[in-house]
Amino acid sequence: MFSNRKSFQHIFLKKLEMTYGKSFKESTIQDQYHTLGNMVREYISSNWISTNERQRSTHSKQVYYLSIEFLLGRLLGQNLTNLGIREVVEAGLKELGICLEDIEEMEPDAGLGNGGLGRLAACFLDSLASLGLPGHGYGIRYKHGLFDQKIVDGFQIELPEQWLRNGNAWEVRKSDQAVEIRFWGDIEAYQDQDGYWRYRHRNGETIAAVPYDIPIIGYEIDVVNTLRLWNAEPSPFPVHKNSMDYKRETEAVSEFLYPDDTHDDGKILRLKQQYFLVSASLQSIIENHRKTYGTLTNLHEKVAIHINDTHPVLAIPELMRVLLDEELLDWDTAWNITSQTISYTNHTTLSEALEKWSVSIFKPLLPRIYMIIEEINERFCKELWEQSPGDWERIERMAIIAHGLVKMAHLALVGSYKVNGVAKIHTEILKKREMADFYQIYPDKFNNKTNGIAHRRWLLKANPQLSSLLTETIGQKWVHEPEQLIQLKPFSFDRSFQQSLKKVKQERKTILSNIIYQQTGLLVDDHSIFDVHVKRLHAYKRQLLNILHVMYLYNRLKEEGNYSIHPRTFIFGAKASPGYYYAKKIIKLINSVAEKVNNDPKTSSILKVVFLENYRVSLAENIFPASDISEQISTASKEASGTGNMKFMMNGALTIGTLDGANVEICEEVGAENMYLFGLKAEEVLHYEQSGGYRSFDYYYHDNRIKQVLEQLVNGFFPNSFDIFEPIYDSLLMQNDEYYVLRDFASYVHAQEQVNNTYQNEDKWLQMSSLNIAHSGYFSSDRTIQEYSEDIWKLKAAEMMR
Ligand SMILES: *Cc1c(COP(=O)(O)O)cnc(C)c1O
Repeated sequence: MFSNRKSFQHIFLKKLEMTYGKSFKESTIQDQYHTLGNMVREYISSNWISTNERQRSTHSKQVYYLSIEFLLGRLLGQNLTNLGIREVVEAGLKELGICLEDIEEMEPDAGLGNGGLGRLAACFLDSLASLGLPGHGYGIRYKHGLFDQKIVDGFQIELPEQWLRNGNAWEVRKSDQAVEIRFWGDIEAYQDQDGYWRYRHRNGETIAAVPYDIPIIGYEIDVVNTLRLWNAEPSPFPVHKNSMDYKRETEAVSEFLYPDDTHDDGKILRLKQQYFLVSASLQSIIENHRKTYGTLTNLHEKVAIHINDTHPVLAIPELMRVLLDEELLDWDTAWNITSQTISYTNHTTLSEALEKWSVSIFKPLLPRIYMIIEEINERFCKELWEQSPGDWERIERMAIIAHGLVKMAHLALVGSYKVNGVAKIHTEILKKREMADFYQIYPDKFNNKTNGIAHRRWLLKANPQLSSLLTETIGQKWVHEPEQLIQLKPFSFDRSFQQSLKKVKQERKTILSNIIYQQTGLLVDDHSIFDVHVKRLHAYKRQLLNILHVMYLYNRLKEEGNYSIHPRTFIFGAKASPGYYYAKKIIKLINSVAEKVNNDPKTSSILKVVFLENYRVSLAENIFPASDISEQISTASKEASGTGNMKFMMNGALTIGTLDGANVEICEEVGAENMYLFGLKAEEVLHYEQSGGYRSFDYYYHDNRIKQVLEQLVNGFFPNSFDIFEPIYDSLLMQNDEYYVLRDFASYVHAQEQVNNTYQNEDKWLQMSSLNIAHSGYFSSDRTIQEYSEDIWKLKAAEMMR
């Protein structure tokens, strides 16, 4: 149906009529989007089935990637690209007077994630399929993804997101594969006929998990993997409870994504969601495995289960439960299988973000799981005792259950065979500090897997202009083998390539300027430097440092008649967790500075500040290609990896950043001379944290630039915002500036001056930009997934059928 333009048109029109009972003329773009989506899904259905059959019949080892978040964004455009049918569809629609881009705009983002962690999971699915690897995702089909953000009067307002309102063209409901999940109740011990003690769950409450499958289509390969999302529904079996309450409580399990990406807010519903995901996914994995092999004793040889952070860590006790209570295996056999099946990725060193559950919540909700964790803990503590008798402090530090809390990271460390951090510096910090006790007893478990991004989405699809230029210049091999981007290196000195690159960047900046105008009514100078800071709003990411620097530039432009800089547009995009009071203040501050700067005739032609609301994947796809400067300015040691930094680099933006997360590897790849590094190093931050010695007041008193901008937070400089910014002022001075904003201020100003200087030298700038693209291949998630596959999962690729 996509073999040529005419046959595509024919089937498209026929389907449109049959589905909607309307003529083409009467159909809406919405109807057209759904028709096209359904056509693509039908088109790949035979490959989808045959991928499953091939993976089963060849007995290939499978990896299942369990994640509480999948930040997919839109699927239509990526699917058309991966299937190689974009041109046919585009041309066919054009003849009908339809613009493909308008249809793509109809698709709501699947925003089932908060930020980097969820987007990583989505990039991994793309790479698994495109590399022909048997890897599938398991997640939750939240009715409402991450909230929609509106900015009203400079403040963030959250609205419930509604991605399923008009149906989802990509999902297939598989009611026949629904499974039951059990909560509450009590555990009864009994002796079986051979005299062994067994346990059964009684008087629990059961809910149904119904799978919705989404095809994950590889790039130019006939592999279609699956993302299975679970929907919570009332169980068809009779239940003893007020049935309206039961229905409401059940549906709540897959109603909302928790809009909180670091803090554990201790909601019981969240624990329910975690067990719901894990129990449903394991039942599905085990059923599949049993169908093929008839036994679970070889599970670890044929199945790898990866848990993305600790949210799915209950996979460990849940697998134990199945093996003990249902398979009737003994503890040691069950533990061997479990702890050789499950591997774990840690995503943070922020201690407040490490998940802990109070026993008083945990135990009644998941009584059997709790018993099993108790047993795992007892055996683990016994081992610790035998290694070092009498060292109670160490046992207290490392125990899985201590002081009435279940420590999810400890459970993950004990029960999985591999543990990885997400960038070199992060893994080192885990080994040396955060998890040093565990590293000492399990040195072989620890490994690093530096994050990556799906270059097919963030370059090929998001930036067709740059992609065409790259293909014209170095051929198309880079699409399958992103490391080939290095072939671009000699062209970075080539005037004509540089000029083409400049043209592409300009085109993308103009596109973004139009989006900015549509969204905000603001006209920005598309020849100004686009200096971009987009990511979740968090104190450690230091959007505050950026905006204080803007205030400083504004002051200088106002006060010094002959101070001149290249015009600059500071672009921000960030959602703050709804309960994160401080982060919301910073959003308000950015908007207040924008109002001041953009409306001052003295500066508005030189400085502009833009806050783009509702930062999400589809918006990001228009931001990265248009960026000149990538702001990666976290307090060193706090950002585990970052992946936004990689998307910018691949699109030719230059990084201004600290040596934190994957910025370290960006520096190794492209060289410090091709980025703008500044600020404290991780060791210096860790040293301050351990030994003290930092006094933010010193920087306030000794640097007039700092003094001035801080005073402006509280002295009426923002006339409509009396009092609002006092908490920011206090955090920087009274609370001694936990994230070293003032400490790094001077260094950041200096780095920004270098940016300004280099930009005046066009050849130099374009050369640096080219070199960033040339060295970005390492940051494809294809490389990351190949490493996971070889070192952790031990997968084999399918016979490539390109
Ligand atoms: C890549 C991405 C992120 C992660 O950005 P960081 O800068 O690594 O924190 C968050 N949200 C969206 C929509 C993204 O595309």
